[in-house]
Amino acid sequence: MTEQGIPDTPLSAQIQRNMADRQMLERAVFGRPARPVVMTVANQKGGVGKTTSTVNIAVALAMGGLHVVVIDADAQGNASSALGMRHEPGTPSTYDVMIGGQSLAEVLQPCPDVPGLVVSPATIDLSGAEIEMVDLPRREYLLSDALSEFLSLHRDVDIVLIDCPPSLGLVTLNALVATDQVLIPIQTEYYALEGLSQLWSTIRRISQDLNPGLHVSSILLTMADRRTNLSQEVEQEVRTHFPEQTLETVIPRSVRVSEAPSYGQSVITYDPRSTGALAYRKVALEISRRLAQD
Ligand code: ATP
Ligand code: MG
Repeated sequence: MTEQGIPDTPLSAQIQRNMADRQMLERAVFGRPARPVVMTVANQKGGVGKTTSTVNIAVALAMGGLHVVVIDADAQGNASSALGMRHEPGTPSTYDVMIGGQSLAEVLQPCPDVPGLVVSPATIDLSGAEIEMVDLPRREYLLSDALSEFLSLHRDVDIVLIDCPPSLGLVTLNALVATDQVLIPIQTEYYALEGLSQLWSTIRRISQDLNPGLHVSSILLTMADRRTNLSQEVEQEVRTHFPEQTLETVIPRSVRVSEAPSYGQSVITYDPRSTGALAYRKVALEISRRLAQD
C-alpha cells in the first residue's frame, strides 16, 4: 500500500506519476525563443513517430502560449488530418508554396481546436513535387525562400515545425535547408539506429554546402515500452551516443496516441489526461525551455 492507501501495483504507480505530471504541467511556464525558430522533424525511416511528434509537440507548445506554425511537407497529409485540416486535392497547400509561387500566409489554416496554431496542409499534389522541382531555379531553397519572406512579415511567430516524408528526397532537402534545427524521432526498437548515420551525414553535408546553421538539436525516443529490455537497451545506447541531444522525456507506446488521428485530433485534445498526452506536453516544455536558453 502507498501512503494514500492505494494498492502498490504498476498501474497505481502510473496513475500517481500521471497525477504528479499533471500538477507540474499546470504550474509550468513555457519558454519562448527570442526570435522565430524553424525546427524540422526528420527521419527517412518510416513510421518512427515523425508526424505524431510534430502534431503533438505543436499543439502542446500552442497550449503553452507560443505562436506555432506547422508545415505539412508529406504528401500523405497525416499531420493535416491529425490537426483537423481540410486537405483534399486543390486545397491551397505546401505544394502551392513550394511549386506554385503562393506565399505561406495564403495557404495557412487556423487549427480549429487550438488557438495559436496555424497549419500549411499537404495534399496529394505534393507527391509529384520531387519531379517538378528538379528543373526549377533555386530548387533547394523553395521552402526556405517562402519561410524567410513569411517570418520577416510575421515576427510574432515563435516556432515553425516541419513534418517530413520518410525519404531524403528534394522535399526533405528543402525542409532541411529552410531550418535552424532538426528533431529526430527514434523508435525504441531493434533497428532503431539503422539509417541514422545516413541521415546524420546528409545533415552534415547540407550544413557544409547549403545551410551553415543547421544542426540536430533534439532526439526524441518514441513508442517506448520501458518494461522490455530491448526498449531500455536502445534508450541507453541512444543516450550514450547523443547525450546532449536526447530529450529527457521518452514517449511511451500508447493506444490513445494511435487512436487520436482517426478523430482528426492530437492526443492532447483527444485525451489530455492520458500518459501519451502528458509525455508530449513534457517534451514540448523541455523543448520550449531549451529554445528560450539558445
Ligand atoms: P511516416 O514515415 O509514414 O511519415 P511517421 O514517422 O510520421 O511515419 P507516425 O505516423 O507518427 O510516424 O507513426 C506511425 C504509426 O505509429 C502511426 O499509426 C501512429 O499512430 C503510431 N504511433 C506513433 N506514436 C505512437 C505511440 N507513442 N504509441 C502508439 N502508437 C504510436
Ligand atoms: Mg509521417
